[in-house]
Amino acid sequence: MNNTNLHELAAKAKDYLKFETEEVITWCGGCGNYSIQNALKRALTLEGFDRKDVLFCFDVGCNGNGADKIEGYTIHGLHGRVISLAAGAVIANPKMKVIAAAGDGATFSEGVNHLVHAVRNDYPMLFIFHNNENYGLTTGQASAMSRKGWKMNGTPDGVVVESINAMDFVLTLKPSFVARTYSGDPDQMTEVMQAALKHKGFAFVEVLQACPTYNKATPDHWYGERVKKIEELAGYDKHDIWQARKIVQDMDKEIYVGVIYEDPNKQNFMEMQKSREGISTTLVEEVKHYDISECC
Ligand code: SF4
Repeated sequence: MNNTNLHELAAKAKDYLKFETEEVITWCGGCGNYSIQNALKRALTLEGFDRKDVLFCFDVGCNGNGADKIEGYTIHGLHGRVISLAAGAVIANPKMKVIAAAGDGATFSEGVNHLVHAVRNDYPMLFIFHNNENYGLTTGQASAMSRKGWKMNGTPDGVVVESINAMDFVLTLKPSFVARTYSGDPDQMTEVMQAALKHKGFAFVEVLQACPTYNKATPDHWYGERVKKIEELAGYDKHDIWQARKIVQDMDKEIYVGVIYEDPNKQNFMEMQKSREGISTTLVEEVKHYDISECC
């Protein structure tokens, strides 16, 4: 490795030190969670966020065990409920950057109803969808993303139903921002998260995540051989939802990553609230304090 590379690596590492903690890492070796969390820390730093500006909301799952490995305000919520938790927080205080993260089990089984209405309502938050195509924390059971025929713990004869195409599902809900990235490309992940952090509505970011312990079918190199950048697709228009829906159908040969769809004109949830027009304070700031010490 030459000096330039070493300097670049040192600069990248320094980028996100303010979001680092000293907690012991418990993820398996080779897990995509390492690079995903580092990309998020770098993106936040490059976009000028400080620890006090951000609320991290984690669901239950392997990624949720990252809750103590990132410095900032953090909530580790109930399984499948992280989107509603984060939505409540951002409505109460839109001045905070609210970031929620959940795996494919939580997002597309326990919590799929929350995802649907968060996209429709365009809550102003970033949602990171960790898609490792299985329930990793509970030792590799099939999720709604596990593909038909895969032999998993709990389905030793193979998954009998078709998996859900996450991106296509979200695109049918008239979203304002949909992006995809994968855990083997930290720089591209950082760029996508930077774009998502700038978005004013509900930013849905799917991360195709390596889970070397329980997902042997689509490991890091499998994605590495198939992932292509959307910028390299001639004539692609990220404002055209039909092009977006067409491009996300293929999950086996050419898998496009980047900002797949964006609607800059969609009003987010806060902008749609007539009762909040002209009000600069947040609901949190408007809470009245009562002295109840004499009441009981
Ligand atoms: Fe990561 Fe999979 Fe291990 Fe969970 S089980 S920590 S997702 S490699």
